[in-house]
Amino acid sequence: MTPELFERGARIRREHEERAASSGGREASRGRVVGPRAPDFAHGVALYVDDVTVSFDGFKALDALSLAIDVGELRCIVGPNGAGKTTMMDVITGKTRPEAGRVHFGSNIDLLRLAESDIAQIGIGRKFQKPTVYERLTVFENLELALKADRSARASLFSRLSGEQLDRIGAMLVLVHLVRDAQRPAGLLSHGQKQWLEIGMLLMQDPALLLLDEPVAGMTDEETERTAELFLSLEGHHSLVVVEHDMHFIEQLTQGRRKVTVLHEGRVLAEGTLAEVQANEQVVEVYLGR
Ligand code: ADP
Ligand code: MG
Repeated sequence: MTPELFERGARIRREHEERAASSGGREASRGRVVGPRAPDFAHGVALYVDDVTVSFDGFKALDALSLAIDVGELRCIVGPNGAGKTTMMDVITGKTRPEAGRVHFGSNIDLLRLAESDIAQIGIGRKFQKPTVYERLTVFENLELALKADRSARASLFSRLSGEQLDRIGAMLVLVHLVRDAQRPAGLLSHGQKQWLEIGMLLMQDPALLLLDEPVAGMTDEETERTAELFLSLEGHHSLVVVEHDMHFIEQLTQGRRKVTVLHEGRVLAEGTLAEVQANEQVVEVYLGR
């Protein structure tokens, strides 16, 4: 090796190590950056948002927002339009950077130091309001693609499915009520079925935390009810943060005991059971009473 090449190699390696050291969630191994480390859930907290502020041209979309989600918890978040619910998800997923505050995944991962793509890889899945499935591919193929988008399976993107992978897709088809539609192009599904397919695609990656933004908007009553059942069955296996306006759906999800967080003007206005927050005078004033 020539001295120039040797020096260049050493410089690249040093840059990698410096970047890894400053990114917090990454580790360097022999000069190679190997993705962010695994989240540590031993303390029971899945997500910790602390004192987070986001401003758009001086307007505070999030204003010192703080909340914590437990491992395996199903948390509902409600609040009027413009309360900052979607912005909160943008911050957690790395799409928007706050000007102040801390956001931790598990006890050890500082999400504010990770790129959006890394955040998806370490186990945070997000469902946007509109379904985004591959309309021309079949339901099965959509799930297959989602499975193979997994980092560990990337090398086998064009390989045949293993028996275990086939089993996982089969189980997911059952879970999201799409067994009979497995071979139909996703574009032919109803709106609610597309939403389920997308949730199934997210679940193929087995995320520790799933963020769902208005998942039942546009669904029929029956689809909404089935979605509540699906989310309840995920509780304990994943942490779920569900943003929704539909109070009947929130009732189904919380069943009188799970915690609801009410956001207003970028902060937590109230937190408690649905009955507790519904009895809160400020909540009635800004949200429910309108
Ligand atoms: P929610 O999801 O609770 O309805 P959002 O988080 O979408 O609320 O928005 C919170 C506030 O921040 C709103 O007033 C919205 O107009 C504003 N906002 C959100 N994103 C942007 C942006 N990219 N630029 C400017 N203002 C924004
Ligand atoms: Mg929103």
